[in-house]
Amino acid sequence: MRKIYNFSAGPAVLPRSVLEQAQEELLDWSGSGMSVTEMSHRGKEFLSIAEDAELTLRSLLGLTKDYEVLFLQGGATAQFSMLPMNLMLDGLPADYVCTGQWSKKAIKEGKKLGSVNVVASSESRNFADIPHIDDWDLSAESSYVHITSNETIGGVEFHNYPDDLPGPLVADMSSHILSKPIDCSKFGLIYAGAQKNIGPAGLTIVIVRRDLIERSAVELPSMFSYAVQAENQSMFNTPPTYAIYMAGLVFKWLEQQGGLAEIERQNINKSSMLYDQIDSTAFYHSPIDKSVRSRMNIPFRIHDESLEGLFLKDAGDSGLLQLKGHRSVGGIRASVYNAMPLEGVEALLGFMRQFEQKHG
Ligand SMILES: *Cc1c(COP(=O)(O)O)cnc(C)c1O
Repeated sequence: MRKIYNFSAGPAVLPRSVLEQAQEELLDWSGSGMSVTEMSHRGKEFLSIAEDAELTLRSLLGLTKDYEVLFLQGGATAQFSMLPMNLMLDGLPADYVCTGQWSKKAIKEGKKLGSVNVVASSESRNFADIPHIDDWDLSAESSYVHITSNETIGGVEFHNYPDDLPGPLVADMSSHILSKPIDCSKFGLIYAGAQKNIGPAGLTIVIVRRDLIERSAVELPSMFSYAVQAENQSMFNTPPTYAIYMAGLVFKWLEQQGGLAEIERQNINKSSMLYDQIDSTAFYHSPIDKSVRSRMNIPFRIHDESLEGLFLKDAGDSGLLQLKGHRSVGGIRASVYNAMPLEGVEALLGFMRQFEQKHG
C-alpha cells in the first residue's frame, strides 16, 4: 500500500490502530457473530458499546454528573439551529462572538430563531485574531454566549476561556475537542461534529449542563429537543451506531496515549514544528496572530502565491494529501489532528524545505 499522510480538515485522519481494530471486528464483534452495523441499537451488545463510549468520553474530559452527553446527528450545522431552539429565553438575546466562517454560519442560523447580539467580530481584520474579552459588547443578561473555540477554516483557536459572562458559555468545539484538557465546568454546552477529531461523519456530540436542558420547550419537535434526546439516552430514534462504535475506539485510543494532557503535549509539539518552519523563512507565512494560532488547523501561504498550485500538486505526488486551503480562503492548510502521527508532520516539513530550496 502507498504510504500517505492525510492532512484533511474533515472527514479526517483516524488512528491507524483504531482502523485496524475496526477491520478485525468488522464481521464479528466480540464473538457475537454480528457486525456492529447489523446490531439492534436496543440490543445488549450495542447498548454496552454506547455505554462504554460515553463512560470513556466522560473520564477523558473529567465530566461530572451535572452534564448530559448526547450522541446526535445532523453535524455541528444542525446545532447552529438546535441550540437557539432549545436555549434561547424569551426576551433575552443570545450573544455571539464572530471569529471566522463557522461563527458566521452559527450567527446566521441563530438570527432565524431569535435575537442575536454579535458582541465582537474580527472580520475587519480578516479573522486574523480573536477580539479581546474586554472589547466584547456583552448584553447585560443573555440566553447564552456562543464562541467557535477553534475556527477550522481560518485557523484561530481560543487558548483560554472567559469567566463572568452574562449567560452560560456555549462552544462549537468541532475541530479541537479532545485535543487538550478542558475545564468543562466553564461551559453550559459544548458541541462537536465527530469527523474532525473523533471518528466518522454522522455523529454529533453535545455535552450539556442538566439545568439548561430544562429550557427545552415541550412544543419543540421531538428530534430537535435536548430534553427528549436526554430522556431517551440519545435513542429517541436509531442513533448512528457504527460512528458511535468508532468514536468509542478512538476514546480508548486516547486513554492508551495517556489521556488529554499527553495528547496536548504532542499537539503543541507537532504544531510548533510547523509554525517554526513557516516563521523561519520569508518564503512561507502565516496570516494568523501568534497568540491565537490553532494547533489543529494550520493555514499558510507561499509569499509568491502563484507557486501554491504547484506546491499542492507536488505535495500530493509525495503522498502528502488534502493540503488545499478551504475554497473560501484559498492557500494551503495543514490539519494536524490528534491522529496525525509525528512522522507525518516531519514528512511535510521535509517537503516544505525541499520545495523552498527548489523555488525560493
Ligand atoms: C466542520 C465544522 C462545522 C460543520 O460540521 P458539519 O458536521 O459538517 O455540520 C461546524 N463548525 C466547525 C468549527 C467545524 O469545523
